Amino acid sequence: MRSFGCLTKWPWRTAHVPLLSPSTHAAAQLLHATSSGVTDTSDAWRTKQRMRAVRQRDTVPERMLRQLLRRAGVHYRICPRDLPGRPDVANKSRRWAVFVHGCFWHGHRDCKLATVPKTNTAFWVAKLEANRQRDARKVRALRELGYKVATVWQCELENDLEAVLPRLLRQLDLSKGSTQPQR
Ligand SMILES: [Zn+2]
Repeated sequence: MRSFGCLTKWPWRTAHVPLLSPSTHAAAQLLHATSSGVTDTSDAWRTKQRMRAVRQRDTVPERMLRQLLRRAGVHYRICPRDLPGRPDVANKSRRWAVFVHGCFWHGHRDCKLATVPKTNTAFWVAKLEANRQRDARKVRALRELGYKVATVWQCELENDLEAVLPRLLRQLDLSKGSTQPQR
């Protein structure tokens, strides 16, 4: 299951996608409690809720990144089909690409948003490791084409947004002459 990234970007999903707020989560818990008659706080149910939360938030970090780049006057294309791994944003004439990763699905190391579920642990460990390896292959393929590649994590956008843009400008060498549209 891949819930994050270009493959899941359908036109209608560019409309408003609400952040899952704590109150929404509470409402989901309440709904669950009332429909089943008892609040199920088992690991399995908590895992299910977390999966659901990740799916609902799919495009939010991507939108946050694009907004950052737009405000900085950086031009980009969204998920160019002809680039390996279809990065979330890229500029082919400037040869840079950025992946925006959800911490859970892409197995962000040492991140509290990326803890392995306590049920079916072996499955999740293998699944998340496979996702990490696939991401690494995508980065390598782009670098072999001469691209500068950066990864932005969901937790960075949520917790340290101000630091993201300066890092990208530096990492992608976007400090000068980079804000012209690509040809
Ligand atoms: Zn993270």
